[in-house]
Amino acid sequence: MNIHEYQAKQLLRKYGVAVLEGGVAYTPAEAVQEAKKLGGPVWVVKSQIHAGGRGKGKFKGNENGAGGVRVVKSLEDVEKNAQEMLGQVLVTHQTGPAGKEVKRVYIEQGCDIKRELYLGMLIDRATSRVTIMASTEGGMEIEEVAAHSPEKILKVAIDPVIGFQQFHGRQLAFGLGLEGKQVSSAVKFMAAMYKAFIDLDCSIVEINPLVVTGAGDVVALDAKVNFDDNALYRHKDIEELRDEDEEDPSELEAARHSLNYIKLDGTIGCMVNGAGLAMATMDIIKLYGGEPANFLDVGGGATKERVTTAFKLILSDSNVEGILVNIFGGIMRCDVIAEGVVAAAREVSLNVPLVVRLEGTNVELGKKILSESGLPIIAADNLADAAEKVVKAVKEAA
Ligand code: ADP
Ligand code: MG
Repeated sequence: MNIHEYQAKQLLRKYGVAVLEGGVAYTPAEAVQEAKKLGGPVWVVKSQIHAGGRGKGKFKGNENGAGGVRVVKSLEDVEKNAQEMLGQVLVTHQTGPAGKEVKRVYIEQGCDIKRELYLGMLIDRATSRVTIMASTEGGMEIEEVAAHSPEKILKVAIDPVIGFQQFHGRQLAFGLGLEGKQVSSAVKFMAAMYKAFIDLDCSIVEINPLVVTGAGDVVALDAKVNFDDNALYRHKDIEELRDEDEEDPSELEAARHSLNYIKLDGTIGCMVNGAGLAMATMDIIKLYGGEPANFLDVGGGATKERVTTAFKLILSDSNVEGILVNIFGGIMRCDVIAEGVVAAAREVSLNVPLVVRLEGTNVELGKKILSESGLPIIAADNLADAAEKVVKAVKEAA
């Protein structure tokens, strides 16, 4: 789960991470109120969407105008810029071309920036440890830095038995070229950030940029926090920060029905039971020259209703030009899948080719339900056959 920058900063502040003062606003008038509380003389008006690259982003319909993060020097300009952002669609390299509507802005104190650095914490799957990454190339995409100058990324893996220690922090601080009181400020910052990471079951905490101010303090100017969804049951207060406007509507609908659905960019919708089989199905679609439109694991004990919902979800994606149902009936029975597919196909008028491969428990009954349904289903015998048929059917229909 993701949260907004201002929420991330509020959480981090509780742990003692250095952030600037600021307040969230939903209207230009609220923006002015928040700005008055801060006092000025410099404020920053920041669009709140769950995507980075806002500073360099562009508002739809005003592509030559300023981006989603603006430094201003009067209350009038706070109001004017909040007005220009709220309700408008911001497109950044992370939002995709559709962009995201800005519904909240964060009014923050202006900062006297001397240096922009990068600091990130994440779980490194290779070492199974929380790893801290730091770089002097702050404010830039870390992926770019990793691709073009990987030597500029410093990494320290934290042994969970001892946790974050001062020496980890000093190693990174010196690597960043910090000196004097900046070093202790950075070490304190990292220690607080690590505590927050562990306590809140984060999967990523990314501060880009982490800045050194003119006064020599180390402060977070941006904050991105992701949480491990599997641990959210331990953090009801964090779950309340969820902003459903920022989430993919089809993924939300899937979550409500306990379906594991992830929307992708391809044209072949997949309905599969079991995450492993779902991955294999996506791979084989690609092998035969197609692109999967989604990952979908309907799970072991899916009911007819859940299968129906799943099928409707796949069809609600306008990119879908063909569907592949690949079910290995074990706990999940093939007849239940077949009933769900038929019910859903009847409810929504199915106008794309549908290839079905069923195997396992009650397979004969499942096949009978499908063949008696009168639906134009293309039957397949195995995984390769199914993938080949669906890719071919989509090409022919195009
Ligand atoms: P994004 O990464 O989405 O573009 P950031 O929060 O990193 O958004 O802001 C982009 C840039 O705007 C920062 O790299 C920094 O230079 C500037 N900036 C952000 N917040 C402030 C602030 N409070 N004071 C001064 N400059 C800021
Ligand atoms: Mg940033």
